[in-house]
Amino acid sequence: MPLVLASPRPAGSRPSGGRERPPRHLADLPLAERRAVVAGLGEPPFRASQLSRHFFGRYTDRPEEMSDLPLAAREPLTQALLPRLLTPERELACDGGTTRKTLWRTFDGALVESVLMRYPDRVTMCVSSQAGCGMACPFCATGQAGLTRNLSTAEIVAQVVAGARLLAGGQVPGGPGRVSNVVFMGMGEPLANYASVLAAVRRLTDPVPEGMGISQRSVTVSTVGLVPAITRLAAERLSVTLAVSLHAPDDELRDTLVPVNRRWKVAEVLDAAWGYAATTGRRVSIEYALIRDINDHAWRADLLGSLLASRLAHVNLIPLNPTPGSRWTASLPAVQDEFVARIASHGVPVTVRDTRGQEIDGACGQLAASVAPEDRPGRRVGAARRTLPLA
Ligand code: SAH
Repeated sequence: MPLVLASPRPAGSRPSGGRERPPRHLADLPLAERRAVVAGLGEPPFRASQLSRHFFGRYTDRPEEMSDLPLAAREPLTQALLPRLLTPERELACDGGTTRKTLWRTFDGALVESVLMRYPDRVTMCVSSQAGCGMACPFCATGQAGLTRNLSTAEIVAQVVAGARLLAGGQVPGGPGRVSNVVFMGMGEPLANYASVLAAVRRLTDPVPEGMGISQRSVTVSTVGLVPAITRLAAERLSVTLAVSLHAPDDELRDTLVPVNRRWKVAEVLDAAWGYAATTGRRVSIEYALIRDINDHAWRADLLGSLLASRLAHVNLIPLNPTPGSRWTASLPAVQDEFVARIASHGVPVTVRDTRGQEIDGACGQLAASVAPEDRPGRRVGAARRTLPLA
């Protein structure tokens, strides 16, 4: 998305803490309600579809790019339904420009990040669902600062549209492309912002002009394990993939690694996950950050394998990404290999995640939305790190 220099509040002002709602945007509303807004402005309702095609199909909110709308109608319609919600504050790239992290400032000064990752066969957008996070997992940078506020549906969708615009414009190495996958693995706990996240999933996956037309099967919602919300999501009968951040197979350790485990135990979380798998037919992804000498013991691999054996599940191991102020590190390669082998020996599919974006603090658990991480004392700036001009 193009840079907008003017923001409604001065930079650095305090976020409102959720007291004010972000401006209404067409991505917050189903198409029928967009029509009503348009009609309220005295315009024919079909203009709602035109506006929606511009946003969801052509990734633009600029009146000057809407040549199918009468000149006089462009400004009032875009002001009413396409306010600019996210202002790029900084963009960092690595992997030859195919991994890009954007720090966004919202209307009230909250900061969130999204990450675009281009692979040979797909482009994944990792989006934030909250500014900050209230789940307080000790190994995750986002959890350290606490929750600022929930994002609105349109604030979530706008992160994906921004990536789609870059790709469509050929601004990501590899030629013009499109966003094929969306993972709710950026900042925040998506199921703690249920209504906005669910509406965002619908907007992302409904066909143009209702939404963006991304396949439901290519959307992953990742959760710490909020059991009632998992059950509720299953009842929506969507085909999105559920990822559960397990990180430990036993309650004693999980109580500390994922503090919400004190409320919903491993057995309850996995029961809810199997319920999701049964209702949707989708294989659940079990996320497990491997932390040296903390959760990487052979007996834990065996326990995990036995819990998941013969279930519709897949284990995604994430070598721990370093976060500021934490002494924890990734497991030794031999220990990781042993962990993988033991899970596999239970007949459970297991992969190790390619942790993209480490050198730009864009990998899992590293999103912390500080305005100037490069100024942090003692940080080594990787050679591949590059600040891009905002365009
Ligand atoms: N709150 C949701 C969404 C965040 S997803 C959730 O927890 O699932 C981010 C994923 O990265 C989660 O699986 C999270 O546990 C994992 N993660 C967090 N910090 C990490 C770190 N330092 N290294 C590797 N993975 C991490």
